[in-house]
Amino acid sequence: MEPLELQGLRPEELVEGLEARGVRLPLAQARRIFAHTVGRGAAVDEVPRVSKTHREALACHTRCRRLEVVEVAEDDDGFSKWLLRCPDGALTEAVRIPLDKPGRYSVCLSSQVGCAMRCDFCATGRLGLTRSLEAWEMVAAWAAVRDATDDGRITSAVFMGQGEPFHNYDAVLRAAAILSHPNGGGIAQKAITISTVGLIPQMRRYTREGHRYRLIVSLHSADADVRRRLLPVAGKLDLEDLARAIAEHAAATGQPVPVAWTLMAGVNDDPVEVERLSTLLAGTPVIVNLIDVNDARPDGYRRSPRLEPFRDALAAAGLPMRRRYSGGSGRDAACGMLAARRASP
Ligand code: SF4
Repeated sequence: MEPLELQGLRPEELVEGLEARGVRLPLAQARRIFAHTVGRGAAVDEVPRVSKTHREALACHTRCRRLEVVEVAEDDDGFSKWLLRCPDGALTEAVRIPLDKPGRYSVCLSSQVGCAMRCDFCATGRLGLTRSLEAWEMVAAWAAVRDATDDGRITSAVFMGQGEPFHNYDAVLRAAAILSHPNGGGIAQKAITISTVGLIPQMRRYTREGHRYRLIVSLHSADADVRRRLLPVAGKLDLEDLARAIAEHAAATGQPVPVAWTLMAGVNDDPVEVERLSTLLAGTPVIVNLIDVNDARPDGYRRSPRLEPFRDALAAAGLPMRRRYSGGSGRDAACGMLAARRASP
C-alpha cells in the first residue's frame, strides 16, 4: 500500500487510513499529529507525546513531503510568485498576495499542472493539461508560502492559479477542508474562494453539498458566441443553463454570486454586453468582478480603454461591481499569466 500523505488527510481520515494498514491510532493523537505537521509545519518526529510504536508506524505508513521552492519572484507591488517543484518534477505555481492590512496575505493556489480549458486569453490554457494536483500538493504549496512568511499571516486562499478547480473537484475540496481546518490551515471557510469557468454539473454538485467556501464564476461575456471564442471548452455549455446554476447557488446560499469579467478591448467591453448580462441574470443577485486582462503576447488581448463607460452601464443596470486588482504582472504572476516560467534567466 502507498504511504499516506499527511498533508492530504484530516485527522479522522488518518485514523481510518492507518486502521486499513493494521495500525490503531487514537483520534486525539491523530489530531496532535495533524496540528503539528500541517498546522505548524513540523516534521513527524517533532510531534510530542507519540509512543515509540506509533512513531514507527508513522515512519512506515505515512509521509509528509514538501515541495521544492525553485524560485520566488517578488514584484514591485508586493505580489510574489512561487515556482514550486513536485516530487515527480512537475512545476506548480502559487502567488502570495499582500492584503490591505499589513502583515496579512492571501495565497493563490493552482489546482492542476496546466489546464484543459484552453481559455484564449490565458497563458496556462496554452500549456494544455499535464495532470491534476493531489490535495496534499495544494496544501504543500500553501505550506511553502506560509513557512517563508514569518513576518505575517496567510488569512485567505483562492483557487485561481493554474487549472480549473472543478476539473479536479474532489482534490480541491479536500485541500480546502484541510486549509480551513482549525488545526490545519486555520483559514476561515468564507476566506477561501474557488473559481470556476462554469462547469455546470460540478457547480450544481457544489451547491447541493452546501459548502461554505466562496464560489466565483468566470463569465467574461453574456454573448454565447463571444463566450465560446474566449472559453472554448466551458463556452460549449449552455449559457442559459449556466445562468440557472448561478441563480440556484445564489438562492441556496442567500448571497450574491461573484461573477468574474476580464475586460478586453473590443471584445467584451461594449456597454451592450451589460444589457445582455442584465437580461441573462435577471433577478439573480451577483457582483461583477471587473479584472484587467493580462496578455503578454504582442498580438494578444489588450486592456480596455472603456472601463468608465462599462462601469457606468453596470451601475445604470443596477448590477453591483467590484474592481479586482490582479497584481504581479511584472513577474508574470497576475491572472491569466501563470505558465510555470522562471522570472530570472
Ligand atoms: S483561465 Fe483558468 S480555466 Fe481558463 S485556461 Fe486559464 S487556468 Fe484554465
